[in-house]
Amino acid sequence: MPISIALAGNPNCGKTTMFNMLTGSRQYVGNRPGVTVEQKTGQLRNHKGVAVVDLPGIYSLSPYTMEEVVARDYLQKQHPDVIVNLVDASNIERNLYLTTQLWEIGLPVLIALNMIDVAEKNGDKIDVDKLSRLLDCEIVPTSALHGEGLGTLCESAIRMAKRGETRTHFCRFSPLVEAALSKIAALIAPDAGTLHMRYRTVKVFERDKKVMEDLGLSAEKRGAIEAIIKKCETAYDDDSDS
Ligand code: GDP
Ligand code: MG
Repeated sequence: MPISIALAGNPNCGKTTMFNMLTGSRQYVGNRPGVTVEQKTGQLRNHKGVAVVDLPGIYSLSPYTMEEVVARDYLQKQHPDVIVNLVDASNIERNLYLTTQLWEIGLPVLIALNMIDVAEKNGDKIDVDKLSRLLDCEIVPTSALHGEGLGTLCESAIRMAKRGETRTHFCRFSPLVEAALSKIAALIAPDAGTLHMRYRTVKVFERDKKVMEDLGLSAEKRGAIEAIIKKCETAYDDDSDS
């Protein structure tokens, strides 16, 4: 059975470098403004039937930029078998915001802690096992530039893809927000099916127009959802998306 591995991460964390290493292709590395935003697909070297997809660089799964729209449409609609989330080892905290959003989609996520050579050069000591336990997510340290860790990464990715376990544990918000999310989930469940349930619920809470449209909710349900969101916003004196 064919397997697809999607590379997702912030801009400049090494996705294209890794894609080129994994597939043997020569996509342009580095920033090039104005270029058409699209995902690129190649075949994993020496692994027939395993496709690797280089997604545009993104900071979140909000639909604010073309890159975000392309990446999330791909993840939502093509559902790859595993997401390899590149996290810049010299900038972990900022990169993990996207990680929490990728988990919500529900597909298996494997973290490639890339640019590990840079972190080591900076003298940073990263306890990978501890980080992996804390996040409850498998992590493989890599240096895409030097081709390090890529064998282990591919083995883990293929194993996770074959196992096909969906992620069911997510970052939790405050009890008040979680209560609102539960109510929204119950309202959209008949229209949403089981896939991407957490992602869709959180996005509906953020009033994400595209996700709401895709669900095709009745006016009655939209009204009920709006009331739930408003109640939270009043309690926190803040917008739901923040
Ligand atoms: P993308 O925007 O995520 O596709 O990132 P690129 O693949 O274009 O890489 C951005 C820059 O980081 C390029 O100059 C790469 O050569 C460099 N780079 C990528 N991976 C690594 C790595 O593991 N170690 C080091 N030192 N540099 C890397
Ligand atoms: Mg790139």
